[in-house]
Amino acid sequence: MPAALLIQYSGGLASLKDRWQVPRMPPTTAGHVLHHILRLGPMHRRDRLRSVLNWMNGSTLLGLAAAKLVGCELRSASRGLIFAHRYSPGLPKASAFTVGNVVLFRAGPEVVALRPQLVEHEARHCTQYAFCLGLPFLPAYFLAAGVSWLLTGDPASRNVFERGAGLQEGGYVERPLRAALTRRVSAPRRLRSSDPLRRRHSSGQ
Ligand SMILES: [Zn+2]
Repeated sequence: MPAALLIQYSGGLASLKDRWQVPRMPPTTAGHVLHHILRLGPMHRRDRLRSVLNWMNGSTLLGLAAAKLVGCELRSASRGLIFAHRYSPGLPKASAFTVGNVVLFRAGPEVVALRPQLVEHEARHCTQYAFCLGLPFLPAYFLAAGVSWLLTGDPASRNVFERGAGLQEGGYVERPLRAALTRRVSAPRRLRSSDPLRRRHSSGQ
């Protein structure tokens, strides 16, 4: 590969990796807040609005508190997000989840840098928090997950929040409706076709 191309190629890889990663945040929670607010300048207007709303509605603060409580490694990321790495408690079982503008990952920064689609998915959850005015997102999400589980046996497949964030980007495989439900939907059609009046009508009698 020519030297100019090699430089261009390695630069492209670096910019992809750097897209979501910036240096580690200051060690105190107050420092995190200040550092994050100071970083609002270069953001896109939409991302800035999301960040401000999630700070104001308290969801980002709750995410930071949860991350600090379980000893996550905090890093400020682009688009107003905060990454909390190496989340270790058993629940939730997901590899990543979001509280306000804080995205908590089980993995470290090296692994997360290789999964930009997952980060996009979690960033959409951040936007959903802003639309739900912060913490009301949580009961609404659990309700949607329950409905999805009842319909499919999976909390994500018919969950409006997960579908809005992108099932594939979140690493989910969409499951079909439960067999009992599909039978119930198709049963009235079978009854109609076996109706004697309908059979007479369709045969021209
Ligand atoms: Zn998700």
